[in-house]
Amino acid sequence: SRTYVVTGAASGIGKTTTQILRDAGNTVIGVDLKGVEVSGDLSSREGRLAAAAAATELAGGTVDAVIACAGLSIPKPITASVNYFGMTEFLDAMQPALARAAAPRVALISSVASLQPTAPPLVDALLSDDEAAATALAEQLAADPQTANLIYSSSKQAISRWVRREAPSARWAGAGIPVNAVGPGTVVTPMTKDLLASEEGRKLVDTAVPMPLNSHQGPESIANLLIWLTSEQNTHCCGQTIYCDGGADAVLRGEDV
Ligand code: NAD
Repeated sequence: SRTYVVTGAASGIGKTTTQILRDAGNTVIGVDLKGVEVSGDLSSREGRLAAAAAATELAGGTVDAVIACAGLSIPKPITASVNYFGMTEFLDAMQPALARAAAPRVALISSVASLQPTAPPLVDALLSDDEAAATALAEQLAADPQTANLIYSSSKQAISRWVRREAPSARWAGAGIPVNAVGPGTVVTPMTKDLLASEEGRKLVDTAVPMPLNSHQGPESIANLLIWLTSEQNTHCCGQTIYCDGGADAVLRGEDV
């Protein structure tokens, strides 16, 4: 049995991942705004560092895997902070506890949205770890309904690029820690419930994210892939965003591999 830290464990994909891991006899320390083992706010630096410290302490100093699920999809600047820094800065703070484990692993959730139009200056500000600049750019995007939804896609493209850049580094691969992301298609969770409730919303989503295989997915499809990526079986998968999306990536990118 292994000890996992799962962010966003109170709802949706994080909650389902936690349940499957626990049913298999593992220990899971959940991190979320409330309702799980560690109450913490991943939208601020202090919140991320406090949550990482509390999770590390509850685990007794050694953590076998971290699965970063916490995220927002509202067209506001906080989405950039939680989706990007709430994963990258939290993971960075968890690295010492992971490095002490025998078979440490990390998985993050990106999105098929990472393949959609973004605001490149926001992606760059996130990747330069400049949260003040990123927030200022996101505020400009949020002010115009035509650009507000670029905040989400930009945060997810930045996550997939962060994984690409950081996974092979001395801090992660060099410490024996595989880092990968999963890119879901449209998952039926509280995040998408309202959007999928109307025919108009469903049409909007299905045009942006075409899913020829089995259409919308339950959280289990993503949870099981996150669990494999963070299992001892994953010895060589490194730096990938694996799209688990009913074929949306194959439709959107075609043969541009
Ligand atoms: P969800 O809303 O059900 O769960 C997200 C969780 O993150 C919630 O429990 C929420 O409280 C937590 N969270 C939000 N802000 C936080 C903060 N500041 N500090 C701590 N926790 C915070 O959504 P979900 O669908 O399970 O989404 C999980 C991840 O999957 C997200 O990163 C999301 O962007 C991604 N994703 C979802 C879909 C989808 O269709 N649902 C598609 C692609 C990617």
